Amino acid sequence: MIPAAFDYAVPATVEEALKLLRKNPEAKVMAGGQSLLSLMKLRLATPPLIVDLRRIRDLSYIREDGSRVLIGAMTTHAEIERSPIIRRRFPVLAQAAEAIGDLQVRNMGTIGGSLAHADPAADYPAAFLAMEGAVQVQGPRKARTILAEDFFTGLYTTALNSGEIITEIQIPIPPAVTGSAYRKMKHPASGFAVVGAAAVLRVGPDGREQRLRLAFTGAAAHAIRATAVEMALRGKAITEQAIAEAMQHATDGVEMLEDLFADREYRAQLVRVYGKRAVMAALQ
Ligand SMILES: Cc1cc2nc3c(=O)[nH]c(=O)nc-3n(C[C@H](O)[C@H](O)[C@H](O)COP(=O)(O)OP(=O)(O)OC[C@H]3O[C@@H](n4cnc5c(N)ncnc54)[C@H](O)[C@@H]3O)c2cc1C
Repeated sequence: MIPAAFDYAVPATVEEALKLLRKNPEAKVMAGGQSLLSLMKLRLATPPLIVDLRRIRDLSYIREDGSRVLIGAMTTHAEIERSPIIRRRFPVLAQAAEAIGDLQVRNMGTIGGSLAHADPAADYPAAFLAMEGAVQVQGPRKARTILAEDFFTGLYTTALNSGEIITEIQIPIPPAVTGSAYRKMKHPASGFAVVGAAAVLRVGPDGREQRLRLAFTGAAAHAIRATAVEMALRGKAITEQAIAEAMQHATDGVEMLEDLFADREYRAQLVRVYGKRAVMAALQ
């Protein structure tokens, strides 16, 4: 399968990339190309111009900055998986990164590309929601910050406007006593998440919940926070039994996805099982 003909530009700076997007409203930016190129080969996307971000070195970094960790949008899944900062501060994100595709995909694909693509079965979106992250975006005229909870708006759809580029992912550093984990049921053929659950949990010395953030991918048209589960466990003693009971609310109000592999009922059961596994792992 061969994509339709397109022009190709490799800017050296974000400003140059934004200029190209301003002049060519139909153009698409390319990061790792791991999702975009498949769409182009299937002719589901036929951009007249590709603006390749790979030479913009300033977009690839992981660093601590006071109360946040900052991740450049072009940082690859493999870099995130191996980063000592991410492994120490956000096991949930390192585990999501290592669950993505295969080594080749992880070496090419980027966090900015994955979030912008907003595949309903992608791994990062659940972790991004549970960590209460944000993206820094540069537009033709101004920069802005979009919170994770406002970012995913539908199937493959985000709050990004045309001509905007994600430049950075920002994650608040939680107190040291916080645990986090990502658990995923892989589709046996594609490896994408049939369901993925991301949990960030802080428990007090008395064993009671002080803060839980739980999010799912694969369940609905876009990644979602399980606020009903969070509320059911608020202030409660965190035991296996309490977690299992709270998980009964995991699909409250959720329009579940279904496909040939997993119907709604089976997917709802996976949500409860993987949600519990993620919270138990975060607790440990
Ligand atoms: C074989 C295979 C298996 C995979 N398995 C998994 C899996 O198990 N889990 C999973 O989560 N993903 C999986 N993926 C997808 C992979 O994670 C991709 O890397 C990711 O979805 C897209 O990232 P990218 O950097 O390759 O973006 P690209 O493909 O280059 O771009 C994707 C989209 O995002 C836009 N975009 C890219 N960067 C930016 C930016 N900085 N700002 C604004 N828009 C931007 C592009 O215009 C395009 O619309 C798989 C892919 C393949 C090929």
